[in-house]
Amino acid sequence: MLDFNNTQLAFSSKSDNELKMVYVLFLAMKNRGVVSLAKGLTGFTERIGLPVGWAVKPTLYRHFVGGETLDECKLVIKKLKEYNIYSVPDYSAEGGGKLQDIQEAFNETKKAIDLAVKEPSIAYAVFKPSALIAGEVLQKLSTENPTLGEVEKEEYGNFRSRVLSLCETAHNSGVKIMIDAEHFAFQKYVDAIAEEAMGLYNKNSAIVFHTLQMYRTDRLDYLKELHKKAKERGYVPGIKFVRGAYMEQERQRAYELGYQDPIHPNKNATDRSYDDGLQYVMDNLKEFELFSGTHNYESNQLLARLIDEKGVERGDKRIFFSQLYGMSDNISFTLASEGYNVCKYLPYAPVNKVLPYLLRRAEENTSVAGQTNRELSLIKSELERRKTVNVK
Ligand SMILES: Cc1cc2nc3c(=O)[nH]c(=O)nc-3n(C[C@H](O)[C@H](O)[C@H](O)COP(=O)(O)OP(=O)(O)OC[C@H]3O[C@@H](n4cnc5c(N)ncnc54)[C@H](O)[C@@H]3O)c2cc1C
Repeated sequence: MLDFNNTQLAFSSKSDNELKMVYVLFLAMKNRGVVSLAKGLTGFTERIGLPVGWAVKPTLYRHFVGGETLDECKLVIKKLKEYNIYSVPDYSAEGGGKLQDIQEAFNETKKAIDLAVKEPSIAYAVFKPSALIAGEVLQKLSTENPTLGEVEKEEYGNFRSRVLSLCETAHNSGVKIMIDAEHFAFQKYVDAIAEEAMGLYNKNSAIVFHTLQMYRTDRLDYLKELHKKAKERGYVPGIKFVRGAYMEQERQRAYELGYQDPIHPNKNATDRSYDDGLQYVMDNLKEFELFSGTHNYESNQLLARLIDEKGVERGDKRIFFSQLYGMSDNISFTLASEGYNVCKYLPYAPVNKVLPYLLRRAEENTSVAGQTNRELSLIKSELERRKTVNVK
């Protein structure tokens, strides 16, 4: 079984000072009070128009973000490559919705595709559907029988062309592209357009990857259904598995609007659903490509074991493991050193636009206390290990 506790390997890219900084950062994120205060202050300073960059940039931003622009990410991409880790530059500006923001998100994704053509250590391009259309329209499109006004119809048409244009550009450039998953309320239409794009561009291999949030009770059945449809229509589904990042909001919304909570009732059920998904795709690998986005030890170990047991080459490009930049380097560096394909999601955007992403990471690290304690204890043992080595 893979051992993710080799701290020398995990932190080989970090200096002592960088490690100490990260330690303090995770210590602060562990504290629910500090994160709530940061969230409140950020909202307040933004509302009154004060810049928050001075506080965020040398701390959260520096640790979790590759830079303000794709160009600025090149340094990190190069560094990760030295350790056989691929990158997925992810334009992470959120909360826009204005035409200018939409155009920016579209252009940035195109730029990432262009860069991936020149830079083979970029494994995928990626975009968030909600970055390409106003959230309200995407939500409306995902209802049972959407009735759209004239303007909304136009927005819908533009959204569809943007998504298909990005997938087509990726296809023509030979670059794989992922469609992130977001709120449950958007997802019905995102499922439809992801399936349409896969049908168009995944004829021989997977170019377009659809994200399944396995915290949803319906996703394992959906996966099987998708498999059936793909076989009938003759395409290779690209599946990106994640557990799902919006649990609290989803539960709250379901409660407020009085519909059945779409999320598994507990963590064990989500874990089982994730691992069953991995098992299903690995059992049918001839008809899939797979991207596993998780920091969970057991799921990473399971996938590594399945690859070996089934006699699939560790470097087979149909399968990628992935973690977020700034998190679980012990998993990424260990998998890469063992010859598996690993990439880091590398967010980038100007500091004020990436705040929702950063606050989500901070909250996640607060709520998943086990994960934060794990990071802290690994960093601590590495700092201690380095001290003893230096003394000798
Ligand atoms: C490369 C990468 C790409 C990602 N892309 C996306 C994306 O497109 N869309 C998206 O939504 N998220 C995305 N995420 C985030 C992801 O969904 C998870 O929020 C995050 O990775 C934590 O889950 P885990 O599997 O790493 O770890 P774990 O710590 O094992 O799992 C934590 C997760 O388990 C679930 N969970 C926790 N408690 C409960 C409970 N009581 N009941 C039910 N379920 C519970 C939640 O999903 C929680 O986030 C991505 C993550 C990675 C690494």
